[in-house]
Amino acid sequence: VIEIRDLQKSYGPLDVLKGVSLSAPRGHVVSLIGSSGSGKSTLLRCCNLLENSHAGEILFLGDPVRWKGQGKARQPASRDQVSLMRTQLAMVFQQFNLWSHMTVLQNVMEAPVTVLGQKPAVVEARARDLLAKVGIADKADAWPAQLSGGQQQRAAIARALCMEPKALLFDEPTSALDPELQQEVVRVIKDLAGEHRTMILVTHDMRLAADVSDKVIFLHQGRIEEEGPPDQVFGAPKSDRLRQFLSATM
Ligand code: ATP
Ligand code: MG
Repeated sequence: VIEIRDLQKSYGPLDVLKGVSLSAPRGHVVSLIGSSGSGKSTLLRCCNLLENSHAGEILFLGDPVRWKGQGKARQPASRDQVSLMRTQLAMVFQQFNLWSHMTVLQNVMEAPVTVLGQKPAVVEARARDLLAKVGIADKADAWPAQLSGGQQQRAAIARALCMEPKALLFDEPTSALDPELQQEVVRVIKDLAGEHRTMILVTHDMRLAADVSDKVIFLHQGRIEEEGPPDQVFGAPKSDRLRQFLSATM
């Protein structure tokens, strides 16, 4: 679904991504792990063009992003391509970012109705199904502030799913939650993985990464230091840096 080749990105003088390649084929879960500041969020945000990259290629459904300009001045050339990728690569953030002035149901329905122009009645039926799927059907008419953190995050996942995206991008979906609330979100992510949804998952939860991933990528200072299937990355890490990282986090 999404493929990245030799991507580079800097903030001013700071090189954050120094040539990163990855691919998330249909139905696969790719997890990104690495220390704080290694570039995980930046990589995710470059994938759906929320953030500009300066070199390298991004392909969505085999279609390369077209650019105008070069280096730091480069930008996606096609607005249509940008909006397509933003809507079809749905992102779930650490802070759930629900709209506080809308009910849970309205949050889930908003983008399909206003951005995709779908019929409210059709979207509402789908939204209610999704709220049931993530276990908060009874919260449809509640305000976000009336929900626990775990419920808010599940609502945010339902909102992402309601766009019927080609892939889901998760940026530390459980990090803002108390341990007991993390499990209910982990459950939903595992269900999605079980349905063979395409996902890129940035997480500090090594057990979750081990359980759901087809591939785990360890980023270190803007480069891929090691990657492979989870049993290899977690069970037989080759790089010293990865070994150090794992012993500090597990
Ligand atoms: P964490 O685990 O803490 O979320 P991360 O791996 O997601 O870390 P990024 O958020 O991608 O790391 O940040 C990579 C580097 O880029 C960091 O040094 C960060 O300070 C820097 N950075 C990120 N966003 C910006 C920005 N908008 N402007 C300037 N520097 C930034
Ligand atoms: Mg981050």
